Amino acid sequence: TKELGLADDLPKSRAASKVRSKSRVRNELSIDDFDVGETLGEGSYSTVLEATLRKTGKKYAIKVLDKTHLARKNKTFTVKIERLALIRLGRTHPGIISLYWTFQDEYSLYFVLDLAPNGEMQSLISRMGSLSLLSSRYYAAQIVDALEYMHSKGVIHRDLKPENLLLDASYRLKIADFGTAKILNADVETERFVGTAQYIAPELVVANESSESSDLWALGCVLYQMISGRFAFSALSEYLTLQKVKQVQYTFPEGFDNNAKDLVQKLLVREPTDRLGAGEPSSSLGMSALRSHPFFESIIWVTLWTEPAPPIV
Ligand code: ATP
Repeated sequence: TKELGLADDLPKSRAASKVRSKSRVRNELSIDDFDVGETLGEGSYSTVLEATLRKTGKKYAIKVLDKTHLARKNKTFTVKIERLALIRLGRTHPGIISLYWTFQDEYSLYFVLDLAPNGEMQSLISRMGSLSLLSSRYYAAQIVDALEYMHSKGVIHRDLKPENLLLDASYRLKIADFGTAKILNADVETERFVGTAQYIAPELVVANESSESSDLWALGCVLYQMISGRFAFSALSEYLTLQKVKQVQYTFPEGFDNNAKDLVQKLLVREPTDRLGAGEPSSSLGMSALRSHPFFESIIWVTLWTEPAPPIV
């Protein structure tokens, strides 16, 4: 298990370095240092638990991965990528789940993460049917801001979707699940990855090529879904969905906000370099042009992460 290098390389907090085990002096946490609470969710290879670090009383989400299961399913790689991506991203951007520590024991790997007590945006959309224009704009802006930061660090998410957009205690957004990310200029091979049909960009379907712009496509799909409550691209089978993606074949429901429609149309563009946000920083297709799109006119970018989230109505 040492080869996973899952311990010792994250900056340790004072709390962590002061913890002593009964049997040996150590400077690393273990699951015994936490009061484990309810199960927050289950992934294919993981269980996520709410847990309180006894020493500080601070709550976290701990992702527990079963080593045998990971090895049997050849998923050790995914865990490595997730850890590397989260370390690369640091703990500086409010829109990205922070990784505090990783540790392991004989059976499991543990990721100690920011707790997002309000769950997935997918559940919110399912519960509400769709989101208000105010909320959709707010969350789309938070995605834009987090994506710009993520891409500046050389991380492409590749599986942006409402299941991976978590909501913190104040209903602000946190992007999670970096297991299938592409990390640029890292000493790791990028796995072939096909994403999720409803959000996957045409270049991934056609040529398995992904770039920062593939995340902008997904943003277009997520914005469409927040406003309308349905997928932009969906059909009876995955194959048929992918056909629609390749042909950029989708329609807007009646009453879809005009500015939002214009923005979605500028994101759901077949050619990756032609998407709004994908161009050179100061060009007409750059990130600042994306932020200046009329749909975001009422967004005050400097207070985006401090102002209260719009009410969920
Ligand atoms: P899969 O591996 O099948 O794609 P997944 O990526 O959703 O599943 P996890 O990332 O392990 O798997 O998450 C499992 C569940 O736990 C998710 O559905 C999510 O709702 C919840 N969860 C994950 N991280 C957090 C967190 N930091 N705070 C709160 N809940 C979380």
